[in-house]
Amino acid sequence: MTTLTDNLTKLDGYLTRFRPHGIQNLIGGETRPAASGAVFDTASPVDESVICPVARGGAEDIDAAAKAAAAAFPAWRDMPAAKRKKILIRIADLIEARAEEIALCECWDTGQALRFMSKAALRGAENFRFFADKVASARDGQNLRSPTLMNVTTRVPIGPVGVITPWNTPFMLSTWKIAPALAAGCTIVHKPAEFSPLTARILAEIAQEAGLPDGVWNLVNGLGEDAGRALTEHPAIKAIAFVGESRTGSMIMKQGADTLKRVHFELGGKNPVVVFDDADLDRALDAAIFMIYSLNGERCTSSSRLLVQETIADHFEAKLIERVNRIKVGHPLDPETEVGPLIHKVHFDKVTSYFDTAKQDGATLAAGGCREGDQGWFVRPTLFTGATTRMRVAQEEIFGPVLTAIRFSTEAEALRIANDTQYGLTAYVWTNDLTRALRFTDALEAGMIWVNSENVRHLPTPFGGVKASGIGRDGGDWSFDFYMEQKHIGFALGQHKIPRLGA
Ligand code: NAD
Repeated sequence: MTTLTDNLTKLDGYLTRFRPHGIQNLIGGETRPAASGAVFDTASPVDESVICPVARGGAEDIDAAAKAAAAAFPAWRDMPAAKRKKILIRIADLIEARAEEIALCECWDTGQALRFMSKAALRGAENFRFFADKVASARDGQNLRSPTLMNVTTRVPIGPVGVITPWNTPFMLSTWKIAPALAAGCTIVHKPAEFSPLTARILAEIAQEAGLPDGVWNLVNGLGEDAGRALTEHPAIKAIAFVGESRTGSMIMKQGADTLKRVHFELGGKNPVVVFDDADLDRALDAAIFMIYSLNGERCTSSSRLLVQETIADHFEAKLIERVNRIKVGHPLDPETEVGPLIHKVHFDKVTSYFDTAKQDGATLAAGGCREGDQGWFVRPTLFTGATTRMRVAQEEIFGPVLTAIRFSTEAEALRIANDTQYGLTAYVWTNDLTRALRFTDALEAGMIWVNSENVRHLPTPFGGVKASGIGRDGGDWSFDFYMEQKHIGFALGQHKIPRLGA
């Protein structure tokens, strides 16, 4: 197994190439600085050191990128499926070949622990392979025959699309959004999160090296309020695939209104894990801990609310506290580390502000609740017990390693609390009563629910949330519902009667 020192040495080698010019944009196949020449710095959350400058793109860069995507669209749309598929598979191969570089850069840029990020590149490659296999069927439709007409449907790609991604697991999420767009025949302009630009640049380079024609994949770095906003307002961009906060989704919907943008939103969550007293409590404990503290709790599908039945609550919480106190917080490149630093000071301030908020509202601090070390944005995994559903720690998305435990007595009460949130992304239910599991999941307000399991992704299944957690679904064929237009064509079967006016 490699050590922290080995990983730091390798990282240094990988970062050298970013040092002279920093991270630039990729527009129409050309690597360029921002038109204005402006840059911003990206820093590591481990020690706050600057990694490199990044092009600060604005409206002018977005305009150039959108025009390049529009110019490249007809040829990419019309490229034979087999050829398009080959390029996507080549992208997957190249991602795998650079898996170590991607993992180390991702950890340094975001603070995510290597034990989880070492698989991020492989998952990204898997996204490309999965959608490469769907290229050939993307245009398939139905035959809906009527007495007088042969009605057929087909799907066509919507056009150039904007992809806006957040800083949590940015590599995996970018591939998750971009692979289906390319498979559908769309061209893209990608605006990655300003806090984590490294692996988005590596990914765009990989696409270029894989033989993707110039202009099919454009990358513009910049801030949400300028580059992001300009992308959502650009008339050549037909749709926006967005992953981020619910509040930003709402802004994007307004910004895109004048150009009638189609939007796909994967937004925030405040997901419940509901543990009934008849469950396999050891497995429930493992899953609850994993789903809130892995990925530093910076995970949209995290189980940030623990709903535990009163009959077992003392015992369950005691075991939970013991485990939470033992979670290893440390350098993200140390293979032993389970929780790394939070992404940025801004986010650190937000997460740690809930330590006081929870106490003011009357919850009990049962573990953590403090910073770790005095450099970097490390916090101790935190648990609040004795919470009630209306408290801010039970309602607001904290997006850090902070779990809020709420007790319930009956199934009806558990359901009421589980649904008592503006969000509806995922839910996790632990019970060995099959009928209850059926009844309960049927009434839960969430886009994705797992019973007796943590979140285990299966690419053919629909991914997305209800309520303030999102609009639309990704995964399987659902991705094509967003990136493609349905077209209906009716062919007359014979001489059916046509109404004659003025005859
Ligand atoms: P964010 O909304 O602050 O930023 C996301 C992206 O939007 C960034 O690239 C940002 O630059 C851009 N942006 C900001 N303002 C914009 C504007 N006015 N117009 C256009 N673009 C703009 O989110 P974040 O803090 O980077 O990410 C964390 C959030 O993402 C959490 O709420 C989390 O739950 C959510 N998330 C959801 C899913 C999901 O699948 N549902 C997955 C991952 C993350």
